[in-house]
Amino acid sequence: MKLSRRELFATSSVALGTFSYAFGQTPAAPAPPPTETSFDPLRGSVGIFTGRGGTIGMLVAPDGLAVVDTQFADTAKIALGSLKQMSARQINLLINTHHHGDHTSGNAVFRPAVTKHVAHRNVPALQKTQATAAKSEAQQAYADTTYDTTWSEKVGAETISLKYYGPAHTSGDSVVTFQNANIVHMGDLMFYQRHPRVDRPSGASIKNWIVLLEAVTKDHPADTIYIAGHAKVNLPVTVTRADLLKFRDYFSGLLAYVQKGIASGRSSAEIVKVASVPGFADYEGNPEGTIQAAYEELTAKG
Ligand SMILES: [Zn+2]
Repeated sequence: MKLSRRELFATSSVALGTFSYAFGQTPAAPAPPPTETSFDPLRGSVGIFTGRGGTIGMLVAPDGLAVVDTQFADTAKIALGSLKQMSARQINLLINTHHHGDHTSGNAVFRPAVTKHVAHRNVPALQKTQATAAKSEAQQAYADTTYDTTWSEKVGAETISLKYYGPAHTSGDSVVTFQNANIVHMGDLMFYQRHPRVDRPSGASIKNWIVLLEAVTKDHPADTIYIAGHAKVNLPVTVTRADLLKFRDYFSGLLAYVQKGIASGRSSAEIVKVASVPGFADYEGNPEGTIQAAYEELTAKG
C-alpha cells in the first residue's frame, strides 16, 4: 500500500499531554519526564519532533528515513515509536549535530534501528569527555562515520549534506541540509530568542559563530526553513534567514558590550551583572553564562 505524504503524516500524530522544556548549562541533568510530544511535518518529507531537549529533525519518506539528534532516552523512545508508526523501514541515517547530552542521550535508543550514524570528526571525543564527567559512559552510542569539512549522502530521493563551518557553539557543530525539502537543521548553532550556551571547554568561538551564521544564510536560498535547537518558550523552533541574521547581530552586540566594559576597566563580575545583552531584552534566560564566555574569549591569551 502506498501512502501519500499527507496520509503518512496523518497517521503519525501523537499527543501525550504537555511537555516540559528543559535546557541549561547542564543539559544532561535529569528533568521531568515529557508528557506531550508530537511529530510536526514542515515541508516535503521533513518534519520535527519537539519533546524535551534539542529539536529532533526527521526525514520520513516512502523511500528513506533519517533522524537528526536524539534528545534523551525517554523522549527518544517516544520519537522512535512515532517514527515506527509512520514507516516499517530501517532508518538509513542518524546524524548528531554536536555532542551535547540533550542531543545525543537518546542515541543508544535509536541505534538498533539505524544503518549509519554520522557526526563531525570532533564529536566522538567531545562526547566521551562529557560522558566521563557525567559517569554516563555505559549509556553512550557514538557516531560510526565522521567527516572533516563536508559530507553528503542520498537517502531515497532526498540528498542530505553536512557542513562544518569551524568552531561556534562547540568545535564539532554540523549544519545539516535537506537539499530537496530546502530545510536546514542548525542544531545549537541557532537559539531562537534565548541566551545561548557557548561551550568554551569544547572549543566554542563567538567570533566564528558570527561568521558562520552569515555564511550559512549565503549558502542557502532565501526561503529556506531553519530548525533551531532551542527556542524561547511558546516560540516556534523553525526560523527564517532574517532570524539567523538577527542572532548574528545579537552576538555582535554581545561582543561590543563586553569589549566596552573591558575597555572601561570593569571586572567580569561587573560586566555580567546586567538584565540582558543591551538591545536584546526579549531574549529568554539568564545572560550571565553567555556574557562570561564572551569575556573569556575577548581576554584569552594567544
Ligand atoms: Zn548544545
